[in-house]
Amino acid sequence: MTLDPASSAAQLDTLILDVLRHRVGKDELAAKPHDWFNATVLAVRDKIVDHWIESTRRTYEADGKRVYYLSLEFLIGRLLRDALSNLGLTRDMEQALRDHGLDIAQLEELEPDAALGNGGLGRLAACFMESLATLDIPAYGYGIRYVNGMFRQRIDDGWQVELPETWLAHGNPWEFDRRESAYLIGFGGEVVADGDSVEWRPAEKVEASAIDTPVVGWRGTRVNTLRLWTASALDPIKLDAFNAGDHVGALADEVKADALVRVLYPADSNAAGQELRLRQEYFFSSASIQDIVRRHVQYEGDIRSLPDHAAIQLNDTHPSVAVAELMRLMIDDHGLEFDEAWDICRKTIGYTNHTLLPEALESWPLPLFERLLPRHMQIIYAINSRVLREARRAGMDERAIAAISLIDEGGERRVRMANLAFVGAHSINGVAALHTELMKSTVFADLHRLYPTRINNKTNGVTPRRWLQQCNPGLTAVIRDAIGDGFLDDAEKLADLNALAGDAALGERIAEVKRSNKVKLAAHLKELTGVRLNPDALFDVQIKRIHEYKRQLLNLIETVALYDQIRSHPEKDWVPRVKILGGKAAPSYSNAKLIIKLANDIARRINADPSVGGLLKVVFVPNYNVTLAERIIPAADLSEQISTAGMEASGTGNMKFALNGALTIGTLDGANIEIKDRVGDDNIFIFGLTADEVVEKRNNGYDPRKAIEDSSELQQAVAAIASGVFSHDDPKRYADLMGGIYDHDWFMIAADFDSYTAAQRSVDQVWETPGTWQAMAIRNIANVGWFSSDRTIGEYARDIWGVK
Ligand SMILES: *Cc1c(COP(=O)(O)O)cnc(C)c1O
Repeated sequence: MTLDPASSAAQLDTLILDVLRHRVGKDELAAKPHDWFNATVLAVRDKIVDHWIESTRRTYEADGKRVYYLSLEFLIGRLLRDALSNLGLTRDMEQALRDHGLDIAQLEELEPDAALGNGGLGRLAACFMESLATLDIPAYGYGIRYVNGMFRQRIDDGWQVELPETWLAHGNPWEFDRRESAYLIGFGGEVVADGDSVEWRPAEKVEASAIDTPVVGWRGTRVNTLRLWTASALDPIKLDAFNAGDHVGALADEVKADALVRVLYPADSNAAGQELRLRQEYFFSSASIQDIVRRHVQYEGDIRSLPDHAAIQLNDTHPSVAVAELMRLMIDDHGLEFDEAWDICRKTIGYTNHTLLPEALESWPLPLFERLLPRHMQIIYAINSRVLREARRAGMDERAIAAISLIDEGGERRVRMANLAFVGAHSINGVAALHTELMKSTVFADLHRLYPTRINNKTNGVTPRRWLQQCNPGLTAVIRDAIGDGFLDDAEKLADLNALAGDAALGERIAEVKRSNKVKLAAHLKELTGVRLNPDALFDVQIKRIHEYKRQLLNLIETVALYDQIRSHPEKDWVPRVKILGGKAAPSYSNAKLIIKLANDIARRINADPSVGGLLKVVFVPNYNVTLAERIIPAADLSEQISTAGMEASGTGNMKFALNGALTIGTLDGANIEIKDRVGDDNIFIFGLTADEVVEKRNNGYDPRKAIEDSSELQQAVAAIASGVFSHDDPKRYADLMGGIYDHDWFMIAADFDSYTAAQRSVDQVWETPGTWQAMAIRNIANVGWFSSDRTIGEYARDIWGVK
């Protein structure tokens, strides 16, 4: 422990009062909760800064390698509890605040949830940042400081409504404005060749400047930096235009710069939206690469040693253009030959793939790319001709060469960002074992044949600090009593619980903690949605982005089938269930939005039906985010991980639930497979087609109509939804959605339905024997320590980055 032993509650108290007075500018007697919150964060930040400066000095002295994690998303959530807990100051701070009549839990509620991400990919980046600091690896996260980030979801009459997230409305006391770290980012213009040298003369320039947030590792071991870029115009106001009366036009450049950092994933259904996205990607990639190169050259003198001092990891393809940007700086600014630059580039860069869905593989219309980034386009052509030459030399045929090319020549020509990232990296990793195998055999089959040693697997993980210790202090305390403190520093020590899986007293204590978490969640959901929940019911939870492949629809249809069953057999001994769903739909994804409406329609009808007698309740939780996940997951009994096999790259929600003692009902998809391997077949409810079977069925004339007709439960439920039983106000609302299952059922809902309901009924059966359920829960907690992001980061460090 490198903690300051003098940081007692009394000292914190003095510090907070001093901060309140001198930096917040408030008298203790007049301070509002927000002032106390700001004073608390600034006081904690002061403590962090001491560790931060010490960490940075150590890094410079060691002259080692730094990791740079480039990600368009960092879904960090709230930071106060995390920072206090990792610094070991939680108790002292509680005490210090209590002395002023303040409840730390109430202050925590004042912190906005920093929604700078969309889902799993962004949360992974946040868990990785925490684990990098915990493992004492010098690292920077690079991204965009969105002013509004991901939209806030409101549910109006069952429909999703998107509102701007205003997380910066009260300022952000965590961050440091680093105006001195600023770079020019060019767009458009022309490339002028003069003999051997090439010069890009951009038509427009904006300034990227850094805003830093410290990231504290467990036990304060190290503090790293999350560096997010903000944009401003070089000429924020054209005074002549302003004075001539054009008040709006005079500010146009500033508005344009501001648009770059407004929202995550602006709609790209129109050309302007597409262009904005590409601009965002280049903006943050260029600023980050310039910063990395500047730091390297400043301290090492020569760009050639970059791979010895920098490991750059691209989180998905959004920062792929960094490959071309790094090449541009080496060739145009540092005078390297193409071949030498290419060698350095590949040694420095690694790329993580997150999806096999063809529609999610990024590509840009070539004319757009060429207009916005003419010099990068030239470099990409040069890279492409080299790669294609290697492919020809390897004897690959024209089909394979067309697949490997960085340019998609079919129809409208496009630049393929995944291929660019692949060829520019020495390591391309998938995020779960199945996903990595599928990468080799599908999307990257030809690139993998050409470069057979590059693809590797790094199964995702989650930080056990946030996803066990902080979100579930009750369970953490019970585990400490049972096996001691070792698991706090090494999550795999949770395995010591295996010896106690049959210990009924331990099972009871864990069940008590679960129940108390459920009581708290029920109170919270009552406030949010008005629905009253029975904490003794089985809490069955599916929270994640709404997407057809994640199959919220399978869950909802099963819910309707169960509702029918309960009504037609009221005499049976039904297990009381609460179905909790939550998640955001992409604003342009109409089926996903319709699924949200369906969940709300089903909830309204079932919750109001006295004939189910409270045996079944359905809740859709609005605005799913990290803070809600931290409340819901510790209260879940059953974790729904039911994607169509072969479609979920890994999932990380699955890991968080198992770590908190929920049992999983899931398909053999993504990391579910590895969870099953670790917890054992008897401690998880697996159902449905395998990834191979899904492909085979699709290729061999799958007939969903027949599957539906073969299952009377499914047929009835689909017919009820299609005929408007849940939508009297608009009986045809779900006709097409249900028709899609009859017509093609791409996501295999009908094919998996019976197997899913059978698995649900065995869930009921086990629930009836609490001792068995509890033992299974213990075996889950005991065996998922491997899914700590510390393990994942340890593997990246060893296999990809070559650090420590
Ligand atoms: C963990 C997490 C996710 C990812 O969930 P999956 O079930 O893996 O898709 C998404 N959003 C939030 C807020 C999370 O905490």
